Amino acid sequence: MAFELAQRLKVLPPYLFAELDRRKQEKIEQGVDVIDLGVGDPDLPTPEPIVEALKRASEKPENHRYPSYVGMKAYREAVSRWYKRRFDIDLNPDSEVIALIGSKEGIAHFPLAFVESGDVVLCPDPAYPVYKIGTIFAGGEPYTLPLREENDFLPDLGSIPQNIVERTKIIWINYPNNPTSADATEEFYKDLIKWAKKHNIIVASDNAYSEIYTGERKPISILQIDGARDVAIEFHSLSKTYNMTGWRIGMAVGNEELVKALGKVKTNIDSGQFNAVQEAGITALELPDDELDKLRAIYRERREVMSRALKEIGLKPYESDTTFYIWTKVPEGYSSADFVGRLIDEAGIVCTPGNGFGDAGEGYFRISLTVPTERLVEAAKRIENLKL
Ligand code: PLP
Repeated sequence: MAFELAQRLKVLPPYLFAELDRRKQEKIEQGVDVIDLGVGDPDLPTPEPIVEALKRASEKPENHRYPSYVGMKAYREAVSRWYKRRFDIDLNPDSEVIALIGSKEGIAHFPLAFVESGDVVLCPDPAYPVYKIGTIFAGGEPYTLPLREENDFLPDLGSIPQNIVERTKIIWINYPNNPTSADATEEFYKDLIKWAKKHNIIVASDNAYSEIYTGERKPISILQIDGARDVAIEFHSLSKTYNMTGWRIGMAVGNEELVKALGKVKTNIDSGQFNAVQEAGITALELPDDELDKLRAIYRERREVMSRALKEIGLKPYESDTTFYIWTKVPEGYSSADFVGRLIDEAGIVCTPGNGFGDAGEGYFRISLTVPTERLVEAAKRIENLKL
């Protein structure tokens, strides 16, 4: 039998990592001790109180039934208290907060609420691929906003042609940024809000990495900016903050109309997250701040180890103290794929080629600091031994 794939699947970009996966497998089969710095999935375990909370919550029969579509009230209240504590923002848990089954789910579904065929969605490049894919699935047209190092990986709103702006429904932004590790300034958010209001465009901000910082300056939420609540929705997640990627729990917050519309889509597609996971999520959101400080100290050490090694071989990692990624230009004369290929073949190290995140990522590679420090030390040694 041959079944014709829908156009929306056919038009998706090819899976650029397939070749890399094949080479990684080959190395493993040859007995090479491969160090995988490719995936952005924290290696550290979920803090114990969260695991204990899940155990207790899973034993309650009332949690075994269908959950609420928009999330338990207690979970939405905990999100609202967390935003107050962290960002000093007041969110109404009944109208400005919705639970997500991981932020990816919300990001992928959001365009279904607003995008008609032919509408434009502005998607950064390089970027987490789901902004573009969600747009395509909703029948919209992604328009690429290149993020350039000389502009600190912020999009240049002034460069978007007028006829594109007129057709734009949503702009996606993500700071602290995957994959570049850049963060946005308050100025940038202010200009963006002003621009979005002028053109009646929805701002969808992905803030999944707000807690992964190692310097003095804490990343902000777009909702801290005056007027943001008129146009913005923020997607957030417990995945990176609390090492809970496997649990699938997140939230969308902000403009009431936008949150409500996302809720309408979700009500018709999913049936919410298991209440026991939401109860564990409440425990996570209420953990004392020093729990996160321990995590930040680990990422700080890892960043230092790897940045030093890269600099010693003459590379220039983008200077950042947010996210657990290092974004670096490949050496002169290499493409992203060539260099990443050499790392796997000659050093047994897997990194992500920059062009896997979009055309503007060509010429870069991404290292994920999600392996124990001693493995990074070993990786650093192997990189230094490469004669570049
Ligand atoms: N946003 C960004 C920028 C990410 O890198 C990721 C995951 O890697 C997500 C969102 C999705 O996270 P989750 O669905 O686990 O909340």
